[in-house]
Amino acid sequence: MVTAVLTIDDVASKNTPAIVDYLNSKGITAVMFAVGQNVEKYYDNAIYALQHGMILGNHTYSHPFMSKISFKEAKEEIEKNESVLDKLYADAGVERKFRPFRFPYGDKGGENREAFQKYFKENGFSKLKDTQITFEWWKTEGLSEEIDTLWTFDFAEYNIRPESGFTEEDVYKRINDEYPIYGGSLFKDDNSHILLLHAHDETDEMVPEYYKKFVGSLLDREVKFLTPEFF
Ligand SMILES: [Zn+2]
Repeated sequence: MVTAVLTIDDVASKNTPAIVDYLNSKGITAVMFAVGQNVEKYYDNAIYALQHGMILGNHTYSHPFMSKISFKEAKEEIEKNESVLDKLYADAGVERKFRPFRFPYGDKGGENREAFQKYFKENGFSKLKDTQITFEWWKTEGLSEEIDTLWTFDFAEYNIRPESGFTEEDVYKRINDEYPIYGGSLFKDDNSHILLLHAHDETDEMVPEYYKKFVGSLLDREVKFLTPEFF
C-alpha cells in the first residue's frame, strides 16, 4: 500500500479555503507551508485553514533562495514568519503545537546547511515523522536526519502556466513515472511519500480545482493519506 503525507506550499491564497474544504471532505490533514507575506495578504483564509484542522508551517516570510542570502538575513526571514504564524494561531484561537519548516525551492541553505540544522534544533522546530519512508536515498542524502521538511514526490503542477507547454497530462505522467529523475516513484514500490502540491491561484485559472483532480487521482488508486506526526 502506498501511504503519504500531503504538504501544500506557498499558503495562503484565494483558493486556500476551497482546498481546505476539499481535503476535509476526504479526511485529509495537510501540512501547509506558509509564506508570511501571503498570509498577511490572505489573512482570513489562513485563519480558515487553521480553524478547519490544517497545520501551518514556516516557508519563510518572502520566499527567497536561502542559499543566496546571508545566514543572518535567512534567520530574519524565518523569524519574521514565526511572528506572523504565532499571531495567526493566536488570532485563530488554535494552539500551535508544531513548528515545521520548509526551504523555498527545497534549497537546503547551501554552504549554511549544517548551521541551519543546528538552528532548527536549538529553536524548537519540528521534524515531520518520516520513519515510514524506506527510499535508500532518503537516508544516504541525510534527509532522514534533518529537521526541515523536504518531499519525496512533487506534482510539479505549478509548471502549468500560459505558454509553459506543461499541461495537466504532464502531471499524470509524473504520477505514473516509474523512474523519475528527482524523488521517488509514486506507484512502483509500496513506499511512503511526502507529497508536494501548491496553493496557487494561477494554477486554478489554468486547471480549475486542480487539487481535486490530482489528489483525487491518488485517492482513486487507494493511496492512504496519513495524519502528519512530528518529532
Ligand atoms: Zn514555495
